[in-house]
Amino acid sequence: MVTTRTPLIAGNWKMNLDHLQSIAFVQKLAWSLKDAKHDYSTVEAVVFPPFTDLRSVQTLLDADKLHLGLGAQDLSAHDSGAHTGEISGAFLSKLDIRYVIVGHSERRTMHGETDAVVAAKVLAAHRNGLVPVLCVGETAADLEEHGPSAVPVAQLRAAVADLPADAEIVVAYEPVWAIGSGKAATAEQAEQVCAALREALADVLGSDSAAATRILYGGSVKSSNIASFMREPNVDGALVGGASLDVDEFASIVRFPSHVGV
Ligand code: PEP
Repeated sequence: MVTTRTPLIAGNWKMNLDHLQSIAFVQKLAWSLKDAKHDYSTVEAVVFPPFTDLRSVQTLLDADKLHLGLGAQDLSAHDSGAHTGEISGAFLSKLDIRYVIVGHSERRTMHGETDAVVAAKVLAAHRNGLVPVLCVGETAADLEEHGPSAVPVAQLRAAVADLPADAEIVVAYEPVWAIGSGKAATAEQAEQVCAALREALADVLGSDSAAATRILYGGSVKSSNIASFMREPNVDGALVGGASLDVDEFASIVRFPSHVGV
């Protein structure tokens, strides 16, 4: 099967930019990409604002017919009921949100999300018509103890075990030691783990699904290093944290084909 995977550049804003700031940011980003004649069919660009910004950004994207995609940073494993403070995937779906980050390392470590919780959230996303952007990755201690692929592959297997083979998912390999540290993995390290993740996907969901699934690298991605990652055959884009909060820098990452000759 020949599959073309459209590269995806995803900006995880984390807990930054309120709803007013988000509108100004998205307008500037859309103008910057429009000025550069960015073709969204060749590189998809998606922003992941905080929950309180989503309605404002969705309204702007809709009203101005902007081609930026919209994602949320988390969702509840439940669809409704007595879950104070949680956000249902059904509500996100109603806002025309397409993607939702699941299992980010900050949620695993700071909010105690286990593999079982992450798996339940992946299913909740799928059940509500959202595409989960499943984050997996090893800590520096894991890397020393188990090598590069063991932990991310185990996290992936646990998270997709009950997912139907035809469900759309995006996987983000984010070594925890590279997140926010300024010390990105090398392109070779990223490729090695992304290839192992694709093999695991083939094993659990089948080869068609593995060939179609986009696997992103995340961890200190910038406009100066995106090219090296995008040259690797199993890296289909990037999940970008800090650099996604700078319009010019994020636009430059999205426009990687024009400035790196990939
Ligand atoms: C992230 O938190 O998902 C991330 C990749 O952050 P940064 O790009 O800042 O390392």
